[in-house]
Amino acid sequence: MSDGIVYLVGAGPGDPGLLTLRGRAVLASADVVVYDALLSPRLLEHAPAEAERVYVGKRSDRHTLPQEEINALLVSRARAGRTVVRLKGGDPFVFGRGGEEAVALADAGVPFEVVPGVTAGVAALAYAGIPATHRDHASALGLITGHAAADKAEDPLDWQALARWPGTLVFYMGVANLPRICEQLIEAGADADTLAAAVRWGTTPRQTTIAGTLATLPDRAAEAGLEPPALIVVGGVVGLRERLTWFETRPLLGRRILVTRARTQASRLVEQLEALGAEAVEAPAIRIEPPEDRSPLLAAAHDAASFNWIVFTSVNGVDAFFDALAETGGDARALAGVHLATIGPATTERLASHGLRADLQPATYTGAAVADALAGSADLDGAAILLPRADIAPPDLADALATAGARVTEVAAYRTVPDPDGAEAAAADLRERRADWITFTSSSTVRNLLEAVGVETVRDSGARLASIGPTTSGTLREAGLEPTIEATEHTIPGLVGAILEYERKA
Ligand code: SAH
Repeated sequence: MSDGIVYLVGAGPGDPGLLTLRGRAVLASADVVVYDALLSPRLLEHAPAEAERVYVGKRSDRHTLPQEEINALLVSRARAGRTVVRLKGGDPFVFGRGGEEAVALADAGVPFEVVPGVTAGVAALAYAGIPATHRDHASALGLITGHAAADKAEDPLDWQALARWPGTLVFYMGVANLPRICEQLIEAGADADTLAAAVRWGTTPRQTTIAGTLATLPDRAAEAGLEPPALIVVGGVVGLRERLTWFETRPLLGRRILVTRARTQASRLVEQLEALGAEAVEAPAIRIEPPEDRSPLLAAAHDAASFNWIVFTSVNGVDAFFDALAETGGDARALAGVHLATIGPATTERLASHGLRADLQPATYTGAAVADALAGSADLDGAAILLPRADIAPPDLADALATAGARVTEVAAYRTVPDPDGAEAAAADLRERRADWITFTSSSTVRNLLEAVGVETVRDSGARLASIGPTTSGTLREAGLEPTIEATEHTIPGLVGAILEYERKA
C-alpha cells in the first residue's frame, strides 16, 4: 500500500497565529503528526482529533528519539500509506535538521513536500521591535548557529568574515556560548560597542529582551539568568528597538490566565486576553451538554407561539432552544407574536444571528435585573413566560417573575457537566503556582473547579480570582474565597477590562 507522503511543515516561531495557511491545510489532512518541543499545543488543534500524535522533541536536554529513529518513523508511516506531517519549529530548513530529514525521505524514495515557516530569527526580532535589515544600519542578514562556537578546534565559523559582515548577525542556539560569541567577534575586529541583544521566547507571551553591546551583553544576560530558547542579535538595528517596541508593551504580557469556561465558549475570552499579551490557558471546568431529558424543551419549542415572553439568560439557552425549534419542524416565524428578553449583549447578539431582535435587555446583566426590567415594562399578571435555561440555574429569576404574577414555564435547555481533562490542566497549573489569574464566568465554573481541585489548591496557588458578576462572586464567597476583582459590566469584555484595570494599578 502506498500514496503516503510526508509534509515537512514550519510551525512558526511560537505564536500559533504565525503558522502559514498551507501549514494549516496540510495539518488538517494529517493521519500522523510528528512534533517537537517548543511548539504551541494550539497548533495541534488543526489536526483531526483522530490523527496519531507523536512527540519526538527534547526533554531536559535529552532527545526522546534520536534523529535516525525520527527519520525511520517518517519513512515507515509514509510507506504504510499515511499522510504524515512533520511539524518543526520556525522554518523546517533553518537549523532544524529538516534538511537531514528530507534527505532521508529522498533516499528512501518517500514523496515529501516542504512547507516553509516563519523562522524565529526574523520573527522574534520583529516582535522585539528590531528590523532584521534597515537601509541605514544593515544591508545583509546572517543566520548563524551559535552552537559550534564552543569548541575552537571544531568551529566552522569564519569570525573575521563575521566581524566584517555588512549587516545584522542572528545566532541561533547561542545562549550557552554567548560570552564566546561576543569575545570572538571583538577579537576578530568588531567594535566592542556594537549593539547586541538576546530575545528569549520570541513571539510568545513569555518574550523578554535583554539589550547591550558586544562588551556588556554577556554580563547582562548572566545577571538576568538568560536560558534557552533565545536568539542573539548583533548589529545597529538593535538601536531601533526602543522606538519600535510594540509587543513587549502589551499590558498583560507574560500574565498566565486560566480560562475555566467550557471550551466551546472560551474562544472570545481567550482571544481578548491574548490580544493584550496574556498567556490564556484553557482549563475548562465544565462542558455544555444537552439535558438528560429533552422532552420538556422540545414541548416548549413546539408550543413557542403560546408564550407572551421568552427570556434567554445565556447563549447556550438560545442555541439549545433554536436547535429544539428546528427539530420540531418550526423556525423563527413561530416567535412572531412572542416578546423576547435577554440577559445581556452576548445573548442579544446570538438572538440576532437567528434574525431576531430582543425586545428587552436590562441595563445590568443579572437575573434579578431582567426580572425588574420585565416587571417595569410589561404587565406580567397572567403572562405566560418561557425560561429555557441551565438545569441548575438559580431559582431567583423564575421566583421573581412568578411573584409579579407571571405563569412561568422553566425548561432545562442544557446542562453543565464537569470536564475532568480541563480540571486536570487547571490543577497542575495551580499546584505549580504558575497561574496569575483564574477567570470565573459563571457559578458552575466555580463549583466544578473547586470540586475538582479543592478550595485549598486554589487558595495556595496565589492566583488572583476574577469574577464576572455578583452571582459568581457569591458562589466564590460561599466556598470561602474572595474574588480579587468583580466585573462591573457582567460580560466577557467587562471581565477582561476589570483584570486590565487591576493590573494597570498594580
Ligand atoms: N527551525 C527553527 C530553529 C531551530 S534551532 C527556526 O527556523 O526558527 C532552535 C533555536 O532557535 C533555539 O535554540 C533558539 O536559538 C531559536 N529559537 C526558536 N524559537 C525561538 C523563540 N521563540 N525565541 C527565541 N529563539 C528561538
